[in-house]
Formats: sequence, structure tokens, C-alpha cells
Amino acid sequence: MTLLRVTSKALPEHNRRHNRALLLQTLLHDGAMSRADLARESGLTRVTVSDLVNELSSEGLIDELGPREGAHVGKPAQLIGLNVNAYHVVSLDLSGDERFVGALVAIDGTVVHRLDAPVHGATGDDALSTALGLARDLVKRSTVRVLGIGIGTPGVVDGEGIVISAPNLDWAGIDLPQTFGAEFDLPVHVGNDANAAALALHSYHDAGPDFMVIEIEHGAGAGLIIGNALVTGGAFTAGEIGHLVVDPDGEPCVCGRRGCLEQVVAVPHLRERLRRAGAQRRASVLADAGRALGYAVAPVVAALGLEAVVLCGPADLVEGPFLDSAAATVRSLTLAGTGEGLTMSAAGDDHDLVLRGSAVFVLSAELGVS
Ligand SMILES: [Zn+2]
Repeated sequence: MTLLRVTSKALPEHNRRHNRALLLQTLLHDGAMSRADLARESGLTRVTVSDLVNELSSEGLIDELGPREGAHVGKPAQLIGLNVNAYHVVSLDLSGDERFVGALVAIDGTVVHRLDAPVHGATGDDALSTALGLARDLVKRSTVRVLGIGIGTPGVVDGEGIVISAPNLDWAGIDLPQTFGAEFDLPVHVGNDANAAALALHSYHDAGPDFMVIEIEHGAGAGLIIGNALVTGGAFTAGEIGHLVVDPDGEPCVCGRRGCLEQVVAVPHLRERLRRAGAQRRASVLADAGRALGYAVAPVVAALGLEAVVLCGPADLVEGPFLDSAAATVRSLTLAGTGEGLTMSAAGDDHDLVLRGSAVFVLSAELGVS
């Protein structure tokens, strides 16, 4: 979360880094503009802007785009723009139950090149070497400088990027930054997959300052953005809703208990239940799963006053009866007024949320843009 109390003094290098990020962020979200416009938008002096633009230009991050079109009087302003291909991020999405997906992602979140690798339930070292192989292939294919490696993984990830626990991958205490850093000599930033999806929605889909995203894949987890900040919790477990017990008499779970939310809504379990139920009962199985999710998230929606919840997952599962039933359940459980303004939607066509959000881990840490 954003610090509410300042606890250390600002050093000159902090200011410079902050102002560089401010310029890049402005050009990323508002597009090409003149130096004068950039000074106006950023609130920095023209001297500071000019100085930083020269620095960013020499690093290839900013392009001179020539005179503004349509100017009639006087010397036309020269436009400058962010070179979104100055660097690419090697981004990995380890959330899938059948495949890991990787991509080279540009600074504006565009997926430039994608690859995937089958995992078929592989865990432990096998899963780790599949992820390393994917990164290796992507680094090889990159035609521009690589800014770093961003990884979105299931499970609990601490502030250093260490996977404390990812039961579905059978990972505990896996130091991904060290493992990947040793091979690639690049900055490595790791986060939870649902948090990655939340960052992608925040950076590239204008999802607003407060929302929850629920990621339904191999497991089930949530990412929370509150006041434009990612909420991780002190123990980095915020959003870990997969092992909330929703049915104490339900099926046994990998965590040792019964009837966890994951047993009801995660893709492998839901597909298996649909297979057993047959085509005729498909809609009712999906609606039941949506209702269970609604029961689990309604208290969160009420406690935080959330107005938007986004579901990510395979469209054939999460869209339709599942989503409708989840939304109706949340509305029926929350106090009149609380749930009324709630928008509950599916992420839809952007299947790259975790990939693009994993790139944001790197872009925000290395360039200060998101
Ligand atoms: Zn469980």
C-alpha cells in the first residue's frame, strides 16, 4: 500500500528518478506532445523537462517525432513521444493448469511475441525448468534490449519475489529472482498472478482506482486495487480467497480441509464437475459455482465499498450463468445501497492480463511507469 506517513528524507536522486518517471508516465498515457506541453502537464520547469528529455532521448526512451502538424504561425513545436519499443519485458504467466505462457511485452503493454509451453500438471523442479526454458526462448527472440523479467505466479509471493507457497505447483520458499537472475543477469520481479491481472486492468483498461479482480484458473485468487495502490497485506496473503471454506461438507482439498472455494470454482475442478453432470445440467452447475463465489466475495465488497469486480478465466466457464449467479448473489447479500452500484463483469477478450500485468511489475519497478 501507499505509505500514508513519510518516514525518510527525499534525496536529490529520488527527485530525479521521480521526475523521469513522471515524464515517461505522462507520455505513455497522454501520447506525444511538445516539451512545453510536457512541462505544463507535469508541472516541472521547462529547464528540468529539457534536461530530462535529453537524458531519456540519449537512452532511446524518447523519440523526436518532428513538427506538430497543422501549425500555421511561427516555428512549429517539435513533438516528442515515448519509444514503447526501447525495451521489451520478458513476461511469464504461470497461472494456467495446462500451459505456461510467456511473451515479449512493449512498454505500452503490447504483446510483441508470445510463446507457450505445456505443463500438464508438472510441479516442483519440472515446473521451474519449464518456466526457465520459456524465459530463455524469449530472451533469445528479443530484438531490442530486455528491461527485465516479470513473473506472475499462483500462490503467496513476498516483497522480495520469493514464492512462499504455491500448493498447485508444489512450490514453497522458491526464490525465483535468484534462480532467474543467476541465469539471465536481468532484474527479475515476481508477483501473484491475480495481482498481475489487477495491475493490467489498472494500467491498460482504465479499471478505476478501486476494484477487485478474481482470477479463476488452476486455482482461484483475488487481486485488490484500493486508492490506486495494490493491496498485498503484511504477510502478502491479501486476495488469497481460494482456500476459504464455502462448503464444510464438500470435497477434500490439497490444503487438508474440505470444500474450499477452489474446489468449487477452479478450472480443473469445475470442468470435472461439468463433465460428470452432462450437458443438460451444465447451466445449473455453473450457477452453483457462481453462487459459491458470490458468498465468498460479498463480505469483501461490503467491507471495502467496492463498485467493480472483474472475473478473469476461461470465457466458456466464467461468462454466462456463472457470472450472472455470482453478481446476483453479491447483490442479494449486501445491504441495499452497498451492492446496487456494483458492476460485476468478465475480463472478456484480454486473455493476456496476467502476462501484461507481470510486465507492469518490471515497468513500475525499473521505469516508474504503469
Ligand atoms: Zn483448500
